[in-house]
Amino acid sequence: MFKLIDLPYAQDALEPVISARTIEFHYGKHLQAYVDNLNKLLPGSGLEGLPLEDIVRRASAGALFNNAGQVLNHNLYFTQFTASESLSAPNGKLADQIAKQWGSIDAFKAEFEAKGVGLFGSGWVWLQADASGNLSIGQYVGADNPVAHGLRPILTFDVWEHAYYLDYQNRRAAHLSALWQIVDWKVIEGRYTI
Ligand code: MN
Repeated sequence: MFKLIDLPYAQDALEPVISARTIEFHYGKHLQAYVDNLNKLLPGSGLEGLPLEDIVRRASAGALFNNAGQVLNHNLYFTQFTASESLSAPNGKLADQIAKQWGSIDAFKAEFEAKGVGLFGSGWVWLQADASGNLSIGQYVGADNPVAHGLRPILTFDVWEHAYYLDYQNRRAAHLSALWQIVDWKVIEGRYTI
């Protein structure tokens, strides 16, 4: 049985970038529903008892993949933010690799935001790494994600409307631009263990 993850901050701690009301619905209702659906769909699937990432890798397209993918995506999404004064950029190997590939953290952020804004409909924009540590920015529709494509998930912005509509209405670009204020780069660096 999968459980709803604990948030590493209070529900109102990310305001004004993400309101307590958005957390109440996005985490408390949407993510909870994905967890509940995943638990209902697993029995008899042949994938019961596997770690979440393995379920995402092995599930066929359909409801089980969609709900497992959404639990994985949201677990990584909600645990990458901080209520504390956050750094504006990563350090260490991740910083070096971003500088090597994009020239600067600002150039990376600009491309990441543009790919989030440019994703048609509901989905996710991801910073992802291959086995050699090369980074890329991936656009994924629905519940899809880097794990399903053999890549390592590093950082993600959720561009489903439920992630921002209560606070930003249709202004997806304004929401994505604001998210950098709460990214916990220490957590992101920890995911880049190449
Ligand atoms: Mn979401």
